[in-house]
Amino acid sequence: MKKSFIFLHPPVTLRKLSEELNKAKGNVSEYPLVPMGLFSMASRLEEEGFETKIVNVSLLKLLNPEKKVEELIEGLDATIFGVDLHWFTHSYGAIELAKLLKFLKNDSKVVIGGYTSSFFYEEIMKKFKFIDGIALGLAEESIVKYAKYVHKEINVNEVPSFAIREGDKTIVNYGKYESENKINEYNFVRVEKMDNWREYLKCGPAGYDSSRKPSFWVLLGRGCMRNCGYCGGGIEGFKAARMGNLLHLREAEKISEDIDILSSKYGVKLINFSHDPEAFGEKYYKKLFENIRGKKQDIVAYWDSFGIPKKEFVDEALKTFSNIIVGISLESTLDEVRFKVGRKYTIEEFIKARDYLNDKRIGIDIYWTIGLPGETEESALKIISKSSDLMRLYKNAVVIPPFPYTLDPNAPMALNPEQYGIKKLYKNFEDYYKATSSLKWIDWVAHETKNMSKKKIAEVTEKIYRAINEIYEAGLFRENVEHRYRLDHEL
Ligand code: SF4
Repeated sequence: MKKSFIFLHPPVTLRKLSEELNKAKGNVSEYPLVPMGLFSMASRLEEEGFETKIVNVSLLKLLNPEKKVEELIEGLDATIFGVDLHWFTHSYGAIELAKLLKFLKNDSKVVIGGYTSSFFYEEIMKKFKFIDGIALGLAEESIVKYAKYVHKEINVNEVPSFAIREGDKTIVNYGKYESENKINEYNFVRVEKMDNWREYLKCGPAGYDSSRKPSFWVLLGRGCMRNCGYCGGGIEGFKAARMGNLLHLREAEKISEDIDILSSKYGVKLINFSHDPEAFGEKYYKKLFENIRGKKQDIVAYWDSFGIPKKEFVDEALKTFSNIIVGISLESTLDEVRFKVGRKYTIEEFIKARDYLNDKRIGIDIYWTIGLPGETEESALKIISKSSDLMRLYKNAVVIPPFPYTLDPNAPMALNPEQYGIKKLYKNFEDYYKATSSLKWIDWVAHETKNMSKKKIAEVTEKIYRAINEIYEAGLFRENVEHRYRLDHEL
């Protein structure tokens, strides 16, 4: 039996993209970005003698809107297929893709893994019998052991952190988190392991764009030292998804080597940091930036700031990169709403920071989240005028029109809803599975607050989304939009 393992990144749904666009008349989301662990897992399997590659079905769908998913994956052959179910966004797509794979390749094993499947593994194993196993937590080591077990090199009890179907039984080995302490040993930049990697480099969260600068994600660490109420990637969410208990940081040398390889071997011009480098302190970011400067690559860097970036940090970043793009999550016009979810900074602080952030070498993406506890319809709608005010002050900033916020199943707000004063409407995996099969925004809203019902959250999100898009369509803030475009597009 040939030792082969294919990873597949699922689309959001299995419908043809052309049909979806037609049905939804806009607002269709397809998320081609893959969890960074797919590259390190593929690399580990290869080291252990397995033939392996990554097939990004979401990207293939974007590149071939008229084709059915069956057509996109026909011809693939492997003893094991691994589908990521990391972000809840893929709850429906990952399960349906796994089902299709099992139907087409009945002799192959089909396993899944990632935050969401790890969190809901019991329910998924019970309800979806075509799934042969679920990796629990970080899986660079356990996936190799699972593959060896399938090839009868080891027995089932030797596969740690895995739920495995054997006939009618599910065997669950909790094991220890073997991958946790090895973050500096893994290779996260085996870009060519993905079919269509050149096109992948042209993908952002919103999809594929051939004129985008080639970009790739760079891993600074795993886990987070914060615990933002709405995020499944913070301290509590990480633990709840069985990913481990600690934040692990990569060495500065490894990160600068990655950037060097990405730039010189793959032509990457824009790197996206997994974390805000400032959050790890001055000593850390100075060492990191110094190492990166030593490689002398001309590169643009993006990250989502954990707060309002400080001047010393921004100065250091501008010495290192040709341009920087920073995502700033303002979430609400009300400071108390932002504070409640763990974001302890104010809009006033952001406005004051324009002395050094309002700089042509910087691009700023402003994010809002609708439906957080304490928000009202009235306060949420103020986002529209506040967006214009901020773009007037910051000619280098754009506001990202908000999509509906879906309660992350393992976020603190979902784990302790009473503490946040919200009502959780989606309680199990099946709720997320059904929600993510829908093209209606309202179905993606998984909670309600004391002030806003599910319907209201969906309506207000849509109203703000449309209003901000209309501002851009009317030609306002053209300078801001063009500036931002220049930073991450080839001219
Ligand atoms: S939103 Fe960012 S800073 Fe907050 S917990 Fe999640 S990853 Fe950490």
